[in-house]
Amino acid sequence: MTLIPGSFRNRLALLCGGLALIVGLPAYLYINHVYAEQLLNERGHAIHELATAMSAVLAESLNERRREIELLSDTRLFRREPLDDSAFRGSLERLQNSYPQYSWIGVADLDGVVQAATHDLLLGQNVAQRPWFAGGLDGVFIGDLHEALLLAKLLPKKGAGPMRFIDIAVPVSGEDGQVRGVLAAHVHWDWAGSVLQVLRPSNAERVGMDILIINGQGDVIFPEDSPLALPRLGDPPARAGFFIDNWSGTEPYVTAVVPVREVVPTSPLGWQVVIRQPLDRVMEDVQALRKVVLVFALLAVAILLLLSWLAASRLSQPIERLATLARRIEKGDEGVTLEVGAGAVELRHLVDALRGMAATLIQRREALEASNRDLEHKVAERTAELARLNDELRDQARRDALTGLPNRLAANERLRDEFVRMRRSRKGYAVLVADIDHFKRINDGHGHPAGDAVLRHVAAVLRAALRESDFVARFGGEEFLLLLPATGFADACRVGEKIRRAVEASPTAAVGVVTMSIGLAMAQPEHEDEDAAVRLADAMLYEAKRAGRNRLVSEQAQTADG
Ligand code: GH3
Ligand code: MG
Ligand code: MG
Repeated sequence: MTLIPGSFRNRLALLCGGLALIVGLPAYLYINHVYAEQLLNERGHAIHELATAMSAVLAESLNERRREIELLSDTRLFRREPLDDSAFRGSLERLQNSYPQYSWIGVADLDGVVQAATHDLLLGQNVAQRPWFAGGLDGVFIGDLHEALLLAKLLPKKGAGPMRFIDIAVPVSGEDGQVRGVLAAHVHWDWAGSVLQVLRPSNAERVGMDILIINGQGDVIFPEDSPLALPRLGDPPARAGFFIDNWSGTEPYVTAVVPVREVVPTSPLGWQVVIRQPLDRVMEDVQALRKVVLVFALLAVAILLLLSWLAASRLSQPIERLATLARRIEKGDEGVTLEVGAGAVELRHLVDALRGMAATLIQRREALEASNRDLEHKVAERTAELARLNDELRDQARRDALTGLPNRLAANERLRDEFVRMRRSRKGYAVLVADIDHFKRINDGHGHPAGDAVLRHVAAVLRAALRESDFVARFGGEEFLLLLPATGFADACRVGEKIRRAVEASPTAAVGVVTMSIGLAMAQPEHEDEDAAVRLADAMLYEAKRAGRNRLVSEQAQTADG
């Protein structure tokens, strides 16, 4: 399997992967969104519920303190005995011991002078200027958080910060119902921490959760180490449930604010329990889940890609094999059979069609080759026939129809060949021109056909009298040309004489004895051309006619005679 960029399997794999992404991504985003929303809702409500519970516990605990003080003030001792009675101190200390957050409990008379107190602290001192004293004279009083003044030096120190209290004061009345003093308790601010501690989630710190108490002025009064100048909440939205606020900073918090029920409506505190947690810490789980889901989604896409790639490979394998086999056929390998294990019906049809096509092509090619061979054979035959006809034609063109001897054209060619050969070999040849005597008379006397018969007869005689290597042609009407290659003058004369006699000695049936006059000349290498010897022989023939016919006149003899 090779990786081809535009291949079928890669395209299919990409298509599947793309589809998975198109379908999966919105689903993933939707689930993410819905889950995040739901989680935020759940956490927000949990925070709000926690704030509600904490504010209820605070109010309840404060109420309990109030009730304890009120009950104590309503005892026999407080109604009847003089305020400086020694029994007071024991009663006050029993109450203090029952609840460790009571830092100080004391009783002051109507002038504000402390008459009894736990551990006799502040005994005899005037507290008339303190708000709790004035409040306590009027009825049940709860004093907001404040720093310890006189007691700060008298009480053992708790924690690092300044000692702070909330105050609870009630009037002390006699049997007659007349107010005769004030019973007051300072509750150490540790109280708030210890009350809230019960409900505080163990992982609050780890998840960045702040649990705060805010007073009526909006200052953070709990926890104690919290800087009092904590950024204020923005404009409170409808503070039902939870909301998201960035506290005039940049980081958004999931926040719940629940007011603490007023224990004594006549002296309201205006406290609120605020719980806040940074939004991204709340959504931490979602982020983690998001990552897990994303990893799984990507893994799923990757697996889908791989699976579709493998599936596409299975599909494309037969096609690639088909292409390879087809290419081999293309290169001329006819032994290839298109055997492809194709699964799909369409592929099987394609294979069948290709197989049929290949077979047809091979058949056609073979038929073409056979027809080519046939054609070549026929062409060869025709060419041979043509050559034969050509030869025949050539032969006919050079043959005299009447006598069957070579004609003038053939004679001229032979003369030229001999002349060329002589130039090379320097060996001369003899040329004889023979003419039938008084042929016109034969024609006139016996008719043209008889003349023709004479011509044929003479031709036969000449041919019979000559050697194979000699050449005889009908040169014109009743004129013949003889060529004797490689023959000297004397021999030529003998041959000339021999044929003259042969003609004379063979009378024809129709016209009787026929004679011939013959001119002979030797062709010389010095001659200008092949016709020179013929002209000479012609001239000799003319001489023979002039000398009385039926004779041979040769150039040399003539020259010798002359
Ligand atoms: P000489 O002895 O001087 O040669 O006299 P001659 O009569 O033979 O010569 P001349 O040239 O006067 O006559 C030749 C005649 O040959 C004339 C022509 O009609 C005849 N002739 C030429 N070709 C043929 C042929 O093919 N057949 C026949 N029958 N006669 C031919
Ligand atoms: Mg003639
Ligand atoms: Mg003649």
